[in-house]
Amino acid sequence: MKIQNVFKNNESWIAGKLEKDPNYFTELSKGQNPDVLYIGCSDSRVTAEDLMGVAPGEVFVHRNIANMVISIDLNVMSVLNYAVEHLKVNHVVVCGHYFCGGVKAAMQSEDMGVLNPWLRNIRDVYRIHKTELNAIADESEKYNRLVELNVQEQCVNLIKTAEVQKAITERGLQVHGWVFDIHSGKLIDLKIDFDHVLKNIREIYDLGH
Ligand SMILES: [Zn+2]
Repeated sequence: MKIQNVFKNNESWIAGKLEKDPNYFTELSKGQNPDVLYIGCSDSRVTAEDLMGVAPGEVFVHRNIANMVISIDLNVMSVLNYAVEHLKVNHVVVCGHYFCGGVKAAMQSEDMGVLNPWLRNIRDVYRIHKTELNAIADESEKYNRLVELNVQEQCVNLIKTAEVQKAITERGLQVHGWVFDIHSGKLIDLKIDFDHVLKNIREIYDLGH
């Protein structure tokens, strides 16, 4: 990708859209009504709309290093609040990916400077699931499993918020944990059994909704 080609690419993109539908941008400018909030990794290989095959207007997107849902991160919490309370999405997805540099970095004993507090949240996921992870001898298998468990814990972090608890009660909002496999291009639904996962922690995080 060459930065000087971007505007030319944009012109061909506009032409392509208008060729199929002359009213495309007029319709797009009328507003958005997405049904899904997607929280994914900033990794340049893990696109959001492209890998799901969805068009502009269909998915509300937030991306950060290692698809984290951190309760004191005003950015992700604002996105979540807006998507759930105002856009009224019915699905919230956390999508991780194998070969995630953020997860890999959190497995090393290395001082990453300003990234330390962010990556510390992934180390906490490791601590919670230490017994399972330490039992995996193969390093790349362990790495893949930590990617999956990180997605699961970020889904649990979503369920700890008042917005999500309220929307689950009021309209049956659903939380989904997915992993994108860069090696095959496949999007995998982890089919997390939230009832099972939340059984022991529900009483602690219940905000009364
Ligand atoms: Zn990543």
